[in-house]
This record gives sequence, structure tokens and C-alpha cells, in this order.
Amino acid sequence: MSDLKQSRPKGTQDFVPPDSERRRRAEDRFRHLAEACGYREIITPTFEHTAVFVKSSGETSDIVTKEMYSFKDRAERDLTLRPEGTPGAVRAVLENRLRLPCRLYYVGPCFRYSRPQKGRYREFGQLGVEALGEASPFVDAEVIFLGSAFFASLGIRDCTTQVNSIGCRECRTTHRDALRKYLLDRKDQLCEDCRLRIDRNPLRVFDCKVETCRHAVAGAPTPRQYLCPSCQAHFAGVLAGLDRHGLHYVVNDRLVRGLDYYNRTTFEYISASLGAQDSLGGGGRYDYLLEEFGGPDTPAIGFALGLDRALLAAPVAPAPPRRSLAFVVWLTEAETGAAEKLADRLRADGIPAQVDYDSRKVKGQFRSADAAQAACCIVIGPDELAKGVYSLKDLATGEQREVPSDTISAEVRALFRD
Ligand SMILES: [Zn+2]
Ligand SMILES: [Zn+2]
Repeated sequence: MSDLKQSRPKGTQDFVPPDSERRRRAEDRFRHLAEACGYREIITPTFEHTAVFVKSSGETSDIVTKEMYSFKDRAERDLTLRPEGTPGAVRAVLENRLRLPCRLYYVGPCFRYSRPQKGRYREFGQLGVEALGEASPFVDAEVIFLGSAFFASLGIRDCTTQVNSIGCRECRTTHRDALRKYLLDRKDQLCEDCRLRIDRNPLRVFDCKVETCRHAVAGAPTPRQYLCPSCQAHFAGVLAGLDRHGLHYVVNDRLVRGLDYYNRTTFEYISASLGAQDSLGGGGRYDYLLEEFGGPDTPAIGFALGLDRALLAAPVAPAPPRRSLAFVVWLTEAETGAAEKLADRLRADGIPAQVDYDSRKVKGQFRSADAAQAACCIVIGPDELAKGVYSLKDLATGEQREVPSDTISAEVRALFRD
């Protein structure tokens, strides 16, 4: 690794087996859970026109101002690697004129130029759902429950769900004015960033990690104190729905989330085992976003979950010592054709099979089988071919026996442990 050009860029990861397989299993679990709630997969480009993200995440958000991987292509177009999944999904829904309501999920990498830390990468896996065209608070509750069900399915036991409401356009305006006034009175206690936020987006002050700011906003007016009756009723509906799903949650008055497009319900999943970077993901309602993209007035809600942190928080199951893989071993050159054919037959029966064509000696082939962590070897020699049998060796126990050729698939499957 002395040559820097040959190591991976800062903030990126390689996933080698079995970690790559663990990751894929988690993604599959998410697909399964989302599809069980009626969501269908949407696959959008990894990069979009930069304007898509500026417009949705908000010009003053940290994502847009500090974290985007933006570049000009050879034709001078302004493009950006997606920092999150929602804007591209919303753009695609409108561009493809999907019929509403529709429920979509996505799985894929996102990119943010931020300081790499444990569980936080510049290229990271994101899993998300978007329920478009549904306004009921019970949808919010179902979406929130789905996210927590995913973490539970990974065996994460210390995940807390926090919920809040930041109100609609109307009640947000009155809250913003009150908050602005409160912050102006305490301007000298705020960090430089937060002073700028007072005018631009005072709600963001709640996100600030600086100690003096946290102290200063301790008594600040919260969005929930200013909810209009309709927003109050919506939030009560969300909590009632969560209760019916049997989900334990904590109402956090300060949970505002760092994106401009949220309104009403916001939520976040927190894991106690992750330290400072404790968020597993979250989401909220974004009833105004489709309209801002030039689409119809459409209520919507979604979440985005961080795959990397979820896998960090989840217990790692001990890897099985053997894979569900059959290794076909040939004794002499004359049996290579039979080995090829048997491998094809096993594969057609749904059994992963591999042949080492390079090692001329049986010992070398067995070594390859061991390196591949195969569950068994099937040995074909002149005697076996003449008798119409195979020698089947269980590599976990070392036990070897003769098996009639027509039952080989069933015999091999019986040796697989998953
Ligand atoms: Zn309201
Ligand atoms: Zn601050």
C-alpha cells in the first residue's frame, strides 16, 4: 500500500466477503419489509443536475453548502453525486408521470463530502421509502414503524425512535418569528454559524452541536408550542397510530432535521451503541416538495436509513465455517468432462458448484475447495464413472461415502447448513 494511488479514496470502503454478503442480506431484508407494505423499487441515477438538490435540500442546508460532490461534465453541465435519495426519487416520479398515490423504495449509495468518522463515510449506503400522495397521519405512523421494524430485523435492540412535529407553513411562520426574537436576545451566546442562521433558517439552531448554543436554546420556543389546530390533530393521529403498532417512541421537541423540505412530522432513529454519530436515519413529511418541483400539490412522507451505521449497530452473526457450495473433484484428465457436466447439473438443480480445472492433482483441488470454504467435495474417478456413483466428502466432518449418481443433488443439499 506504499503507492497512494492504489489505495481507496478517503471515506470510501471496500466490502469483501463475507462483509459484502452481510451487507447484501441487510439490503434484501429491507426490500422484503418495504415490499410487504406495498412499496416498489425505484432506481434513479447516481448523479443528477445540481439544481435538483439545491432546490430540495435548501440552499442554506449543510448538505448543499458544504457536503456535495459537485462537478462539471465535459459539456459544462453542473452535476452532483446524490447526497441523499429523496430529491432524485421525486424528480423521477414527476418526470415519469407516475400515478399517485404511489409507494416507492430505493437502495443505493449516496455521497457527501464530510469528515469521515466511525460509521460515517463519504460514499455510504442509503435505504429509503417515499409514500407519495398520502396525507393521513396513520401513513406517518406506518412509515415510522417500518423503519424501526428494519432495525429490529437486523437484531438492533437499542434503537430509540424520536418523533416531533414542526408544523405547516402557517404555524411555522409564527414559530419562526418567536424563535428569531428569542435568538436575537441571546445573540452573543451563539456561534458564528448560528448567528447567520437567525435570519436564514433559525430552526437549524436546534441542530447545532456547539455547547454554548445548546445551552442558549434550552428555553427557546419549540415548534410544537406553536402548532395550529390542524397540525396538532395530525400529530396526535401519528402518536395514536404508533401506539397501535406497538412502537415505543420518545417525543423530542428539538428534533427538526437538517433539511428544508420537511413539514409536520419529523422522526429519527437513535442507537445508544454508536457514540457521537448515533443516528441510524430518519425522515419526515414533505408535503410541499413536489409542488416546488413544479408538480401537483401532493402530500408525501419518507425516510432514509443509513446502511453503514445500521450494520455497525447490528450484532454480527458468526459466519458459518462452510458455504453452500459443492466442489467437483476429478481424478484424471479423462473425468474433466464428467466434472463439467455434473457441475452444470447441480447448478441447474439450484446448487452452487465449482470445479478446479487447473490443479492436476487431487490434493490441489481439495486445497482449492477448502480455500473456497465449500461444504463438500464430489469426487469423480474412473471407478466411480464405471459404477455410476460419486464419492461425496463432507468437508465439515471429513466423512466420505459413495452416493448413486441420480440422487447426488438431494445428498449434497442435505449437507448444506443454511
Ligand atoms: Zn399548522
Ligand atoms: Zn451554534
